[in-house]
Amino acid sequence: MNMTCREVIDFLMEYLSGGLSTSERAEFERHLTDCPDCTAYLRSYEETIKLGKAVFADPGAPVPQDVPEKLVQAILASRRQDM
Ligand SMILES: [Zn+2]
Repeated sequence: MNMTCREVIDFLMEYLSGGLSTSERAEFERHLTDCPDCTAYLRSYEETIKLGKAVFADPGAPVPQDVPEKLVQAILASRRQDM
């Protein structure tokens, strides 16, 4: 089976947290080698997670001033896609 870009994005969180099975992970990574769009998306996502970690470690905490607004919006937008 081949993953679609949509599935890759859906799996992104689990991939980054190590939640995928070995076969899912292999499919995920194979898609990335063939798809520059998803590779770019993954990079920006990892960057977003890194910068936004403090925010999401504590949902009640105020957004730190040094997290760019557009990155916060990117995370919120990716969450909305799941609904
Ligand atoms: Zn893709």
